[in-house]
Amino acid sequence: MLSEVSLKRGADMWSADAVARLCLERYSELPKRGKPEPGREWSLLAAVVRASAQGALEEVVSLGTGTKCIGQSAMSPRGDVLNDSHAEVIARRGFVRYLTEQLRRVVCGETSEVLQPADEKGKWRLQPDVCFLFFTTHTPCGDASIIPMVETEAQPCWPVPTEESSDAAPDEKPKRQAGEQGGVATKRPRLTEREEESQEEADLHRTGAKCVPGAPEDPRAPGLGYHRVGVLRVKPGRGEPTLSLSCSDKLARWAVLGCQGALLSHYLEGAIYFSALVTSKCPYSSQAMERALFTRCSQVTGLPSGFHVQQLQLLQSSLEFPHSHAVVHGSWQQDPARRPPPGRVSPCGAAISWCAVSDRPLDVTANGYKQGVTKKAVGTAHARSLICKAELFRAFLALLAATPRSHIPQSLSGRDLHTYWDYKQAARPYQDAWLQLRNQAFPLWPRGPRHLLQFE
Ligand SMILES: [Zn+2]
Repeated sequence: MLSEVSLKRGADMWSADAVARLCLERYSELPKRGKPEPGREWSLLAAVVRASAQGALEEVVSLGTGTKCIGQSAMSPRGDVLNDSHAEVIARRGFVRYLTEQLRRVVCGETSEVLQPADEKGKWRLQPDVCFLFFTTHTPCGDASIIPMVETEAQPCWPVPTEESSDAAPDEKPKRQAGEQGGVATKRPRLTEREEESQEEADLHRTGAKCVPGAPEDPRAPGLGYHRVGVLRVKPGRGEPTLSLSCSDKLARWAVLGCQGALLSHYLEGAIYFSALVTSKCPYSSQAMERALFTRCSQVTGLPSGFHVQQLQLLQSSLEFPHSHAVVHGSWQQDPARRPPPGRVSPCGAAISWCAVSDRPLDVTANGYKQGVTKKAVGTAHARSLICKAELFRAFLALLAATPRSHIPQSLSGRDLHTYWDYKQAARPYQDAWLQLRNQAFPLWPRGPRHLLQFE
């Protein structure tokens, strides 16, 4: 047995539970600010973990919480608002801050825990022993969340036992009964509240994320035919429509373009990919995850050197996020006296970003701006999140200013670039990869309004 274990690939040596534990501990160490109000609010959490290729977990380098997304009219031409505050997106942006600081260190001749010089002058790459894992407490919104209920049997949290059904093993699959096809929940005994919610939706865990403009809409047929699968979706939510794509779509994009973004790709030899995606205990289907995160892009060819379609290792942990929707609901079931009045349980409006950087690692926002700023302060530097476009651009320009002339990346040297848009467009291999991905897999990916990217 021992030799079998040691022969395994490095990435198999850490466990999904160990990744989840590390991330949940990091979260629990953060101050209360921005965290959900106990028993009344829930949130989502995502994180990036630095690991060694040999299988050792090193540290959380970025962590994000958040459930919200602003409407189209709240977008800003100054790049100073966070359009999308879902946990995955917050964690990814914090990771960009972390990478920017690592690059700053190496261009100044200091050592980095993750980077080393690449062959081309002015470029850097990950040390061969370094890899990054992505953790989420939930299945990403959008395509990966469209899960036929028959497939949930392997996931560990279904059903949450009630008093009457506490004999049921936690991982027992939902009992299907004759004539169930219409999903009439009231006919069946022993359903937990969570089950009832889902069963009213027939045989499919649904997503509130609508198909992108220009795509045919969901057929909304009963049961399994409700949704189309494998299509781009905008973020779910009530209120004004958003232009932000679902987290399933963004993760699929990062699996081809990397998670470093266009700006940092000037400094990097190739894309930086997450090696694995670890998800907490929640409704989960590895088949839906595979479909959403890489099958949709698997046929993409002609990518520039340094880019490929990354097949993330997909794993699920048995650990649960204490502030998840399911736990907040579950806590009432165990103690109905604590149950808040209907309508009082809501998603937490704040988003927390924490990343492993030396200066101001913590950044708490609400509605896309620093939490607690007045309407009057919006538009000032004081109101900006450190992970908004304008601040990430400012950090990038500071990196460029700190780079000795002899080590300026070729794509930036002697160029007359001014705006955020200019600098992004000048990252040619990245833009070429994006073009291939869009043309071959995601032709309906909405183009953000260009005038919102022209700030300096
Ligand atoms: Zn999401």
